[in-house]
Order: sequence, then C-alpha cells, then structure tokens
Amino acid sequence: MKFKKRNLITGGSGFLGSHLAKKLLEKGEEVICLDNFFTGNKSNIKKLFKYQNFEFIRHDVTEPIKLEIDNIWHLACPASPIHYQFNPIKTTKTSFIGTHNMLGLAKRVSAKILLASTSEVYGDPEIHPQKESYRGSVNTIGIRSCYEEGKRIAETLCADYQRVHGVEVRIMRIFNTYGPNMRFDDGRVISNFIVQALKNQKITLYGDGSQTRSFCYVDDLINGMILLMESNYKKPMNFGNPKEFSIIELANLIRSLVNPDLQFEYKKLPEDDPKRRQPSIQLAKNLLNWEPKIPLKEGLIRTLDWFKNNL
Ligand code: NAD
Ligand code: UDP
Repeated sequence: MKFKKRNLITGGSGFLGSHLAKKLLEKGEEVICLDNFFTGNKSNIKKLFKYQNFEFIRHDVTEPIKLEIDNIWHLACPASPIHYQFNPIKTTKTSFIGTHNMLGLAKRVSAKILLASTSEVYGDPEIHPQKESYRGSVNTIGIRSCYEEGKRIAETLCADYQRVHGVEVRIMRIFNTYGPNMRFDDGRVISNFIVQALKNQKITLYGDGSQTRSFCYVDDLINGMILLMESNYKKPMNFGNPKEFSIIELANLIRSLVNPDLQFEYKKLPEDDPKRRQPSIQLAKNLLNWEPKIPLKEGLIRTLDWFKNNL
C-alpha cells in the first residue's frame, strides 16, 4: 500500500486549518485535526468526516499530547484581535506553551513542524514593505502584545529547537488572509464588512480608514503553506498579497459589490493598530516560485458568495 503522510493540524477547525485539512485530504494524506474550539467551528470540519483519512481530537495545545505523525502544521492560536485580546494571558500561553509542546512532539517523533507566525511580529512597522530581515517595532505591554510577543517567542522556540535538537522547522509569516470559513463574528475587517453589508448595516471604520493592509485569498495562502513545508527553508518567510489597500478603499469595494448606498460608521481606532502593512514576498517568489494569483475583487466575490449561503 502507498505510504501516506500523517499530518497533525493544530487549530484544524479554524479558518485556515480547515482549508489546509481539506487540501491535504484531497491529496490522499492522513489528517488529524486538533482543536479546543475556542474560535474554531464544528461546521468547518463537518464535511471532512466523509474522508476515511480524517480524524478529530478535541484538545488544548497548552497540554502535552503524544501522537505518531510525520508533519505538524501548528496553527492553533486565536488570530483576530478581539479574540486574542479576550483572554490575553491564555493567548500568550497558547503561543509559548502550545508551541513548546508541539516542538517537543516534533522532536520525539522526528516530525517536521510548520509554525503559523504572523506579520504582527513586525508590530507597527517603520519600514515599508516589510522584509523578513526587518526586526519589527513591537510594544511589549500593549493590548496586541500577547499575540505579537507570543508569536515572536514561538519563532524563537522554533529556531532554538532547530539549533539545539535539529528539529525541521518552517516559519510562515502570514499577512492578512481572508475567505470562506471565517466566523461571522470573527471580528477581522473583511468578515466584519461583509456581514455588515449583507445585513444592510453601517460599515464600521476604525479611525479615518487611511490605515492599510494587504489581503491574500485563502487558496493562495494554503498553496504557499504546502510549498513552504515541502521546501528546505528553515528561516521565517513572508506570505501574503503585496497589493496594499487602505481600509476605506476596502470598504468602498465591498459596498460597490453589495449595496452602494450603505453608510459608514466611524469608530475609535484601537490601541497600537498598525498604520501600514504590506509584505515583501521576494523570498517566496525566488525560492518557492510562489505568488498570489487571486486579486482582491475576485476573492471578495467568492467570499461574499460563501457568506451569503451560510449566514
Ligand atoms: P482561527 O481563529 O480561525 O483559527 C485558530 C484555531 O486555533 C481555532 O480553531 C481555535 O479554536 C484554535 N485554538 C486556539 N487556541 C487553541 C488551543 N489553546 N488549543 C487548541 N486549539 C486552539 O484563525 P486563523 O485565521 O485560521 O489562524 C490560524 C493561524 O494562522 C493562527 O496561528 C494565526 O495566528 C495565524 N495567522 C493567521 C492570519 C490570517 O490572516 N488568517 C494572519 C497571520 C497569522
Ligand atoms: N477595522 C475596521 N473596521 C472593522 C474591523 C477592523 O476599520 O470592523 C480595521 C482595523 O482597525 C485595522 C484593519 O481594519 O486597521 C484590519 O483589522 P483586522 O482586525 O482585520 O486585522 P489586523 O491586521 O489589525 O490584525
């Protein structure tokens, strides 16, 4: 019988984890999803039980676990500011203890491990676009620190397990990604705007909407994630769509796709909200021949369709 890789996806019932699981199952690989359902959703994995090569474990990564696996895709961590700030100490524990547990597991069974890191390791960046060599501008004691510093220490742990124990690590710095399977109450900007637009509510702009982000459609991101795992590159690599938009441009685009008459409601800009964010993806282009293919408008149309059918 053909040997199938055994994959553990922590955070497997979340937005990105559920897409990754589906992609690996379709490739015929075995997938064990592990999740504590803090922000994950049963409906994201319900459809995956039809695959014989799928299993689910309800577990919190801050507790150790023993499993026989070949690859660990370590995604478990709330990613939306409102959710990672809900219990910030738990977020730090998930990033530090959770990553420590997964690295220990990788070491014990000689598995490869990919860490879902983030553009937030750059904090409120002073250089633009952000390259992997930029060391970031992060507040250690702000409301975003539990996540930003949590992911920074998670990267440090990966680098040390690689150096000290020879664990095969991959560090993926993910920039804002969107698509189907996001929670309706996820709180991140694209899902908020889409849900508000579909419910005919005012679109909530934080600050004056001039802050920027660069939005990657989920299918592009998952292709990059698999390429990175399969590569030999052990240092951090940026993944995201380099096309930069202001939040007000995003709001106008979603409004034009749903209902041009929708009103805006301006709200206070949250503390430490980064002013500009745009990835340099030169490294991923050069080493993996990866770049996103789906433009924002097309990705939004696909995402809108999913929200319309599921809201
Ligand atoms: P998500 O909130 O949809 O998924 C996170 C998943 O992790 C959820 O299913 C949640 O229940 C689970 N989880 C949280 N804490 C856990 C714990 N202690 N034990 C077990 N499971 C736990 O978010 P997402 O957008 O899918 O993000 C996945 C990963 O990618 C996260 O690590 C996030 O930091 C990273 N990331 C995502 C983005 C993005 O734009 N989507 C950007 C940067 C980084
Ligand atoms: N934002 C907004 N309205 C919302 C949600 C978010 O204006 O309803 C802004 C937020 O202040 C930030 C940007 O959109 O500047 C992206 O926010 P998100 O929470 O999606 O992710 P971040 O990149 O800040 O982690």
